[in-house]
Amino acid sequence: MFFRDIIGQTEIKRRLIQSVKDNYIPHARMISGPEGVGKMALALAYARYLSCTQRGEDDACGVCPSCVKYGKLSHPDLHFVYPIVKNDKKKKEICDDYLKEWRQFVLQNPYFNLNSWLNFMGAENSQGMIYAKESDEIIRKLNLKAYESEYKIMIVWLPEKMHEACASKLLKMIEEPPSNTVFLLISENPDRVIGTIQSRTQSFPVPPIDDESMRQALQKYFLSAPDAHSLAPT
Ligand SMILES: [Zn+2]
Repeated sequence: MFFRDIIGQTEIKRRLIQSVKDNYIPHARMISGPEGVGKMALALAYARYLSCTQRGEDDACGVCPSCVKYGKLSHPDLHFVYPIVKNDKKKKEICDDYLKEWRQFVLQNPYFNLNSWLNFMGAENSQGMIYAKESDEIIRKLNLKAYESEYKIMIVWLPEKMHEACASKLLKMIEEPPSNTVFLLISENPDRVIGTIQSRTQSFPVPPIDDESMRQALQKYFLSAPDAHSLAPT
């Protein structure tokens, strides 16, 4: 995901790009907003830009070793936490047990919601959750040295789905982060995230996509112009 692939959000992108140029890298941001506004796309483009070794004026280069790994979401300093459904039979109980599916799912289209992810996992009738056990993984990963980048980046999708025990350990990590660690929390309901995490992250609200950008995107990717117009949000 590049900034140029993001639908609309011109001002939000400008702010993220400028913050990197100013070397202003908050160690924890809470990227919040309703479903479908592009929060994950923005987080991925920002993480890629931050890690790119040949940054351009307004986007990552796409060809440096870091960008190549971001193209597969396999950069060793990029970590993801996301709701999953435990599967005892298949011994799937932490995010990494679903990493292959997750990469495939996110690469396919970063505009998604929890239901589409649950469907993709084949768990449509279950509730996704970030289980208590995940906290050990978070701590383990962040205590590693950065392999290749200046920053270790942890993208936490839907922290409001996190088990309390995991949330309190995450809080500790956010309060005293290992050096050069960047947390990007992506939330649809930041009010459901424990208050102490909220207060220690920099709030970064993302507004709805403007109608014109949405119409253009629909027109470009999916539909002919008249239909796209009638589908754009009103
Ligand atoms: Zn690059």
